[in-house]
This record gives sequence, C-alpha cells and structure tokens, in this order.
Amino acid sequence: MGLSTTFRDFQNANDAASPTEENDDARIVCKRCNDSGYVFENGGAKRCACVVEERRKRYRAEAGLPYFERRELEPPAREYVANFDKIARSRRNWIAFFGKTGSGKSTQAFGIVDALTTRERPVRAQTLLYGDFVRRLSALRYDAFELEKSFRKAKKAPLLLIDDFLDVVPKANSFEEHVAQALIKRRYETRLPLILTTETTPRRMVAESPCGEALLGRIVEMCDARITIAEENAVNHRLCSLAFNRDVIPY
Ligand SMILES: [Zn+2]
Repeated sequence: MGLSTTFRDFQNANDAASPTEENDDARIVCKRCNDSGYVFENGGAKRCACVVEERRKRYRAEAGLPYFERRELEPPAREYVANFDKIARSRRNWIAFFGKTGSGKSTQAFGIVDALTTRERPVRAQTLLYGDFVRRLSALRYDAFELEKSFRKAKKAPLLLIDDFLDVVPKANSFEEHVAQALIKRRYETRLPLILTTETTPRRMVAESPCGEALLGRIVEMCDARITIAEENAVNHRLCSLAFNRDVIPY
C-alpha cells in the first residue's frame, strides 16, 4: 500500500505541478505589475504601462485603418494631432482634405488616426471607407434597425474618419444622397471630431451634388479653416470660412 500511495501521490503531484507552472508562465506577461494592471509608487497606485500599451494596440486595431505607408504629417494634419484635445473640446473640430487622387490626402488622414490611436492617451477612432459604407447600407436599406445601428456607430465614434467621401456623386433623391446627408448631419449634431477626405473640390461639390451646398456649408463651418485643397499644381492648406459663399468659392 505504501508503494502505491507514494506512486499515486507522486503522479498527482506531477499532474498538479506541470499545468500550474505552464499557466503561470502564460499568465504573467508583465513583470512590472504581475498583470495586476497597477504599480505602487510613493504610497499610491498607478496604472501600469502595460495597460496603456494594451489599450493602444486595441484602439489601433479597432480603428480599422487599411494598410498605408506612413509619411511625415504635413502642417494641417500635424497641428490637428498636436492640438487634438483642445480642438476636440471646441465646437468646430473637423479637418478636411479635398482634391485629386495621389495628393496624399488619405495618407495624411490615416496618419492622423494612426498617431491619435497610439499616443500616450490613445483616442478611440473609426475609419469609414465611404464607398464600402454606402454599399453596405444599400444592402440593408429595407432593414431600418440595422441601418440605424450603422449610422449610430458612425455618429458616436469619438473620432471618425470618412475616406473618399462622395466617391460617386449621388443622384437627386437617391439612397446615396440620403446616406451622404444623414452622415454629415448626424456627425454635425454630435459635434464630435471628423476627418474627411474627398476627391471632389468645394466648387464641384456644390455644382455636381444636389445636396452639395448643404454638405459643404457644414464641412466649412466645422473645419474652422482646417481645409486642404490639392489642385493640379498646388496644394492650398487653408480655405477661409468666410470664403463659403457660393459666388466666391475659389476652387
Ligand atoms: Zn503591467
């Protein structure tokens, strides 16, 4: 009996010991806080850096950015990132990039989201590729509940990027026109930050889109002059809000 008990105990001890060891190895990732999430310093508890790091990774993944090549941010984008907290608290907190393909406007917009979701105090963001969004909504157009859910997500994101807005000019009274209007209107109502890129120019937006004037009016108001317009030969970084008068839109 003595032998079998000893053998059994030995086996049990082994069975018990090895998974525990493995679990410990798998569980303790952060040696600074033993995965508690807190470090104790000068008599107080403070969030461990691993929590911030984990949050950065999660926010960056949640933002849904497509792959892009990082480039240095140009002045309007750089200033937007540097002053984001102050800008976000103000009532006019959008930034827009108008103009031709290849001007790097999406790269600048993606760069803003990349920088803000991975900074010391990361920001939650959502990327919306406009064409995909419209197609997805179009498939749901008779499902009011799902439609509303998609709009609500875009409306409530603490930072929203709409890339390639109006990639197809909507026809008057079409579903696409309704989506364009609803998206801008709802975001406008929340007064939450928005980054917008579009291949069209302000002038073309007003001339070609039936709801263009209303859209542009809101964009210009909310951007507070943070508008970049890429033209054939030049990039104009600022369009003064005062220029929004359909007779004097310069581009
Ligand atoms: Zn830690």
